[in-house]
Amino acid sequence: MIKGRRTNLAAVKEAILKRDGAKCFICGTLNGPFDLHHIIPISKGGDKFDLDNLVLCCQNDNRMLRAGLDEALTNEYLFSIISSSSNHLGQFMVTIESVKGLVGTQNSQRARALLNRMLYANIVSAMETYLSDKLISSVSRDDLLVRRVLENNPDFKSKTYALQDIFVVYEALRQRILDYLSSVIYHNLPKVQKIYEAVFGIEFPGDLAKIYKAILIRHDIVHRNGRSAEGVLVDLTDDDVLELVLETTRFVSDLNRRVQEAV
Ligand SMILES: [Zn+2]
Repeated sequence: MIKGRRTNLAAVKEAILKRDGAKCFICGTLNGPFDLHHIIPISKGGDKFDLDNLVLCCQNDNRMLRAGLDEALTNEYLFSIISSSSNHLGQFMVTIESVKGLVGTQNSQRARALLNRMLYANIVSAMETYLSDKLISSVSRDDLLVRRVLENNPDFKSKTYALQDIFVVYEALRQRILDYLSSVIYHNLPKVQKIYEAVFGIEFPGDLAKIYKAILIRHDIVHRNGRSAEGVLVDLTDDDVLELVLETTRFVSDLNRRVQEAV
């Protein structure tokens, strides 16, 4: 039996180390010391000891997460993360931290309901942006990945060219692939999944049923002013928003780790 808070946290940390390895979930550094980061904060009802709610985070990145959005404009380090072209998970997490900070801040029922719809849609947007930016920036830096997009994608299968045009086609190929990747709708997860699996040779992590459902809800929020096709107003509680925070953070950070290990 594990007794006492201290022992409990130590045991939890050990279990996380075993699950994820001794590295920061954002930047992947192996240089500790590491903090435990609660995806749903304890102050918002997150479970302190639940492994699903915990990731290992280097102290630099944990400071960044704690700083939140307000300091983003003044804190040089945070600003460098947000504007950095390659730290896509860091950018996702900064958005998620801002969302977490806003959950539960409105007292009136109407304001709370509206804010929750906005936050919910924003989480899905942040996930889409991660999926798009991570893929495009990785492909733009690696010719092998360009080739994998081309050779594994059904959208390119039917194209044929005259031999005389081969160099013209070749010279424009890279840009064409990047343009293609920019045109993908990144909440079309089945399609994005196929591209990721072909390009990085990895599998998408876990069960995505809850994220699929969230994408449909986001559609009603963004394109139907918060109402379903039947006219019913989408009703989201603080817990619904926080649960999506948890699901997307787990998904994006798991995926990020798989991509990091693959390239
Ligand atoms: Zn880190």
